[in-house]
Amino acid sequence: MAPASVARVSQDQPSSPAPTQGAFPGMPTPLYAASPSKLLAWVDCPRRYRFQYLDRPRPVTRPQRAHTSIGVAAHNALRDWWDQSDRTPEAGARLVREGWVDLGFRDPAQSLTWRQRTQAEVTAYLQGVDPSRTPVGVERTAAFKTGVLAFFGRIDRLDDRGGELVVVDYKTGRRRLTNEDARTSLPLALYAAAVWRMFRRRCVRVELHHVPTGTVAAYEHSDDSLVRKVREAESIAADLRRADLAYAADGTDAACFPPRVSPLCQWCDYRAHCREGQQAGPEKSSWAALEESTDDRVTDEAHFGGPNELKQAEREHSDGLGEPAGPASCGSDESDESLGSV
Ligand code: SF4
Repeated sequence: MAPASVARVSQDQPSSPAPTQGAFPGMPTPLYAASPSKLLAWVDCPRRYRFQYLDRPRPVTRPQRAHTSIGVAAHNALRDWWDQSDRTPEAGARLVREGWVDLGFRDPAQSLTWRQRTQAEVTAYLQGVDPSRTPVGVERTAAFKTGVLAFFGRIDRLDDRGGELVVVDYKTGRRRLTNEDARTSLPLALYAAAVWRMFRRRCVRVELHHVPTGTVAAYEHSDDSLVRKVREAESIAADLRRADLAYAADGTDAACFPPRVSPLCQWCDYRAHCREGQQAGPEKSSWAALEESTDDRVTDEAHFGGPNELKQAEREHSDGLGEPAGPASCGSDESDESLGSV
């Protein structure tokens, strides 16, 4: 049985697109629709959040980077592998070759080298996967509602291992991952909460599968730790609601969107529009993540937008669910009201 605080989320899942709902006195505040990418964009840098989710037309982003191309090819291959009649490791290599995305590399030679390397990594990874154990879901949409938040996302893979549901997220960056990465991941915890709610089955184990090394970083949440993550997401959503309101009132003059300058600025897709971020250092080349150990957030699709259809899911769900209501202000003065409704 789900912990009470998770079980009390709404049984409804976000549907697309939701009708636009105006705000009138006495009306309940609409839920705030958010994906992991949206939540983490705000946490990483409010200015980037504004560029990505509020400014329209959206500022032009830089061309796709090579590590994103690799992530797309690997994720798609690992997704489509389950549809193959021959679920062999070699089939995974073939899928990488057929779906290779030749963008962001220094030159054709570098692209070929990394295609072959990715083929080898996917092949090696699949040697450890039992082809007879078809997952419960592959790139499956997961969603839940609380009294504050309408969360939605897409799980790379959902396993049923002897009755235990396990959330699996593929990673293709260069850095080897740790169990601490799995423990602290907000998206993974929210996916587990969503699975628990949708399947009405306990789901507490989350895993990061690092395709380049074939290693697995795992964590088993407690009921309480999952609830804490849901509350964390609600708190971020409350900040986002206030920020969106301020933007609706004041546009780009709103003070809620300061640049958060950090080493990530050298990788930011929007740095051409951000004077402060440009001071952080020279822009990284499109292939830099292939040659140096980078902050995981650089290669994490949950931070920088996904290689899969998550962006489409965001478009489907964000229209109409996240309208601001209430006074426009910035800051984190969230009351316990949302926490009580998880
Ligand atoms: S360049 Fe840096 S400060 Fe500017 S939007 Fe990007 S992450 Fe934020």
